[in-house]
Amino acid sequence: MRVYISADMEGTAGVTGILQTMPAEKQYDAARSLMIAEVNAAIEGAFQGGATEVRVNDSHDGMRNLLLDALDPRAELVSGAPKPLSMVEGIEAGFDVMLCTGYHSMAGSAGTLAHTYNGLVHTSRLCGRPVGELGLNAAYAGLLGVPVGLVTGDDVLQKETAEIVPWAKFALVKWAASRYAARNLSHARACEEITKGAEAAVRGAKQMQVFTLPGRPEVEVTFLNAAQAGLAALCPGSERTSPLSVRFAHDDYREVFKAFRAMITLARD
Ligand SMILES: [Zn+2]
Repeated sequence: MRVYISADMEGTAGVTGILQTMPAEKQYDAARSLMIAEVNAAIEGAFQGGATEVRVNDSHDGMRNLLLDALDPRAELVSGAPKPLSMVEGIEAGFDVMLCTGYHSMAGSAGTLAHTYNGLVHTSRLCGRPVGELGLNAAYAGLLGVPVGLVTGDDVLQKETAEIVPWAKFALVKWAASRYAARNLSHARACEEITKGAEAAVRGAKQMQVFTLPGRPEVEVTFLNAAQAGLAALCPGSERTSPLSVRFAHDDYREVFKAFRAMITLARD
C-alpha cells in the first residue's frame, strides 16, 4: 500500500497569520514545528492503516519546511523548489492514495489564509468549476489513478472537500473566524484527528474514487489586475478571455496543469 502525502502549511491548527508561514519571520519556527508534527501524525496513521511506503512532498512556499531529521524516518521526503509539479511533485501511477495535510480553502473563499498557489489568483476554474489547490492537485492525482483519501484543514475547506472529493475523509482541525483568525483544536487533538483520518483513508483506499474532469481539460484563471492577466497570456496556447482572465485547454491535463503553473509564474504586478 503506497501512500503519497502533499503537505501544505496554512491549514495547520494554530496557524492563522501570514508571518507564521514565512521562513524569514520570527513566528515561523513555532508554526513549522506544528506543521511537522501534523505531517508525522498523518504518516503514523498511514502506517497504522497498512501503508508499506509513504512519500511526503513538502508543498508550502519554498518547500523546505519539513526538517528531514524531525520527520518520521519511515517516510521519504521530496523537498525544495522549484519542482516541475510543485504541490504534486513525486506522485506517480501506482500510489494507492493521496493525503493532503495542512491544506486551505480556495482563493476568494472565507477560509483562514485562503489562496490558490499564489496571491495573484482571484479565481481559478477547471472545466468551468471554481477550484483551489485541492481541486487542481486532485485532478493531477486523478489522472494517474490516485484518489484523494484525506484532507486536513479548516471548516471552509471541509465544505470544499465535500464538493470536490466527497469520498475523502476530512480531519477538521480549526474553524475559520476570519481570513486571519480561527478557533483551533489543541495541537494534540489535531494530531489525533489527523492520525485517525489517515488510518481510515489508507484502510479505505480501495473504495475511494478517483477525481475526474467532466470534459476536455481546461483551466481559466482570473487575476487581480489586467497587468497580471496580460503577462499570464504570454503562455503559448493560452487565450485571453477577459481583461482579467486567461484560459488554457488541452486534451492532456498534464499540459493544463503545466500551463496553470506557467501562467501564475509569469503573472506579476
Ligand atoms: Zn497552499
